[in-house]
Amino acid sequence: ERTVQRIAAGEVVERPASVVKELVENALDAGADRISVSVTDGGTSRIRVRDDGVGIPPAQLPDAVAEHATSKIADIEDLDSGVGTLGFRGEALYTIGAVSRLTVRSRPRPDAHDPTAAREAEQTGVDLPPDAGAELTVEGGEVGDVRPAGCPVGTTVEVADLFFNTPARRKFLKTDATEFDHVNRVVTQYALANPDVAVSLEHDGRETFATQGNGDLESAVLAVYGRDVARSMITVDYAIEDDETGPERAEIPADTPVERVYGLVSHPETTRANREYLSTFVNDRYVTASTLRNAVVDAYGGQLAPDRYPFAVLFVELPAGTVDVNVHPRKLEVKYNKPEAVKRTVRTVIENALREEGI
Ligand code: ADP
Ligand code: MG
Repeated sequence: ERTVQRIAAGEVVERPASVVKELVENALDAGADRISVSVTDGGTSRIRVRDDGVGIPPAQLPDAVAEHATSKIADIEDLDSGVGTLGFRGEALYTIGAVSRLTVRSRPRPDAHDPTAAREAEQTGVDLPPDAGAELTVEGGEVGDVRPAGCPVGTTVEVADLFFNTPARRKFLKTDATEFDHVNRVVTQYALANPDVAVSLEHDGRETFATQGNGDLESAVLAVYGRDVARSMITVDYAIEDDETGPERAEIPADTPVERVYGLVSHPETTRANREYLSTFVNDRYVTASTLRNAVVDAYGGQLAPDRYPFAVLFVELPAGTVDVNVHPRKLEVKYNKPEAVKRTVRTVIENALREEGI
């Protein structure tokens, strides 16, 4: 029963994109300035995520792939039953290692884990040898030995043959093109949400996009969606102050929990036929729930052609007590204290931004 509870509350590995999500989150957690994602055959054959974050000391590699929680994960047969989801919390690498051939290769930043050693190295001018690093492989849950490996500072995680030992799960995978679409969507969201990190994506050896990581959202949009979209983007930035008056504030509900709305939305002529390009973030978490997406679309009034949707990269900030971003295990959904006030606020802020552009 505890296993079931943990799975219901945890994350999900159902396809290559879910693996990519976990690995990119780990890279961000490690303070990476640069994250390179490379996948083969939509990620079904191989996923590689390389970062320049703090790294993992060789002695800690076994911990990184170990099961942390006290309750045990289900047997491999249960994982393979095809029902429900494969869940975990704080156990991404453990879970991925159970259903693939996983290699974690890492070299710690000299200063990250041992400040004394780093200082000494600095004073004496002696650094770690350029190939200092180690790797550990897990194959279908079988953990190998830590071995020395030459690699740059940071961590590279490779996931080969996802679901090789869980055929029922493997059967649920769609075509490589569809799986890559999902991977692309995930990496795109993280690239847009973290314009200060250089994020790149490669499929079958060809670069899909690469952001510069210069902190500029417009430049991230340019890298991800191209020049035409980037050129059509309109800046939205509005902080809701308590003491503010005036016509703009008057249209925003007095009791709104929203503190700030900012980002970019496209000119009504730059649209797509689906809502995928409406990237909305609540307190920096990507959400797909309809509240914000509808608010964006509504702001355009009748200006969008039928069944067309604008581009948006929109960040909404609310105080922690007024929003729950954990209501769904994949955290794409959110629950607001005052959903109507949130929706109205976001719509009004975008309406005003469009009006300022004469739209
Ligand atoms: P969680 O991220 O919830 O701790 P994971 O299974 O995703 O669980 O990762 C386990 C641990 O391995 C992390 O807590 C971290 O210490 C280490 N780790 C994983 N990926 C990286 C990475 N890219 N850089 C540095 N450390 C990492
Ligand atoms: Mg993690």
